[in-house]
Amino acid sequence: MTPLPKDLQSLHGFFMIMSFVLGTAVGSFCGVCIDRWPAGLSIIKPRSRCPKCMNEIAWFDNIPLVSWVLLRAKCRNCDAPIGLMCPTVELITGLLFLATYWRFGYSPATPVYMALCAGMVIITFQDLADWTIPDEITLPGVPIGLALSLAGMFWGEATGLRVVSVFDSLLGILLGAGILFALDRVTVLLLKKPGMGMGDMKLLAMLGAFLGWKGTLGTLMMGSVIGSFVGVSVLFYYRKRGENAVVESAKKTDAADSDEEITLEGHYLPFGPYLAVAGLIYMFFGPELINWYIASLGPNSQVVVIR
Ligand SMILES: [Zn+2]
Repeated sequence: MTPLPKDLQSLHGFFMIMSFVLGTAVGSFCGVCIDRWPAGLSIIKPRSRCPKCMNEIAWFDNIPLVSWVLLRAKCRNCDAPIGLMCPTVELITGLLFLATYWRFGYSPATPVYMALCAGMVIITFQDLADWTIPDEITLPGVPIGLALSLAGMFWGEATGLRVVSVFDSLLGILLGAGILFALDRVTVLLLKKPGMGMGDMKLLAMLGAFLGWKGTLGTLMMGSVIGSFVGVSVLFYYRKRGENAVVESAKKTDAADSDEEITLEGHYLPFGPYLAVAGLIYMFFGPELINWYIASLGPNSQVVVIR
């Protein structure tokens, strides 16, 4: 990480705590996005209400994490239970912001990667809950990532950014969208199954804009490994329980023969969360992981050293 300037060093602990607190507040807003975007609702108005009694939630009952604990997960007005989703999103975002500060320190990269974390949290939870990846994140994400890499070209290493070349970023975008587009075509043509969603393409393009072409490949590889591991585990879980839900839906997909039926009927395990998680792993540790991997291949292969 970029160390703090000498006169600010005593504030290190304070910045750690503030990063976490800021993360929970941003996480609270992420929860609103996850809740409202799939329904096409505004994320600004109206204020949050209890879904059961429709009572507006007062600011003091809306403090991230704290309120949920103090209210013991119940609405103050009608005792309706408050789900685990909001506090989970708040806690995860808080921890990710803390980790980002710990990793990137006192540098312009820290707020950039905090925002990337928040975006990936929204994408993960919305894809798990609604099977959609919000364009609200991925579409602006691509040009923002590209612009930041351009800024990185001017200010260089001092920014602490992973990608300090606009060409690297551009290649990441093209590679991300291109690979998933090709995979999609191959799956549809050969396996007659729905391939990748457009949302996944836009997501990997966005991660490519932020993480460069190596980041795109690293994210795709890690995402596929995590995805197949979870996918196989889920399959075994259902087999064990005697419910072949996943298998059934796969059979249905096989039976579909027209393109239209494929898109309407076919449901796949969402790939977005794995890409989002893998993207963040790369953001935190990517180049170190690649160097470690190259080093593990043996002394003869240490020709390439990646920053
Ligand atoms: Zn209520």
